[in-house]
Amino acid sequence: MEKTFFIIKPDGVRRSLVGLVLERAERRGFSIEKLQMCEVTRDMLDQHYADLVDKPFYHEIVSYMLSGPVVIGVMTGGDVIHSWRKMMGATNPSDALPGTIRGDFAHASDDGSVENIVHGSDCAASAQREIALWFD
Ligand code: UDP
Ligand code: MG
Repeated sequence: MEKTFFIIKPDGVRRSLVGLVLERAERRGFSIEKLQMCEVTRDMLDQHYADLVDKPFYHEIVSYMLSGPVVIGVMTGGDVIHSWRKMMGATNPSDALPGTIRGDFAHASDDGSVENIVHGSDCAASAQREIALWFD
């Protein structure tokens, strides 16, 4: 069965959206295979977002993602990688459609950071890499 890696980011935990996010995944028919609350370290974040560390906005990602505990997990199901990305909605909450997690529960911030509640792997290679990084 296909697997994807997800994070309920610090804003999701702070706003008590953990149950809601998990419920959406489960009601879609996906199974939560692994689930853990954790504090992200700078080192783990740099590895997770290896393709973004050189971007000018990376410092915003760092302060956002280290601003509180997160919930990390693995969920499984048919076409789960693509389906979970669709359920999350567009990266920028202003572009995220209603009905998606980001479109229903996030909005654009004033300070440039993109607080958008959830992460999901963007392809099979990323899913494999991220699951190994966070759970092995
Ligand atoms: N991000 C940001 N500013 C940007 C682009 C991205 O703060 O201009 C943050 C945002 O939280 C996003 C994360 O970095 O979710 C990873 O970016 P990516 O392009 O991989 O978006 P995602 O896969 O999360 O939709
Ligand atoms: Mg991404």
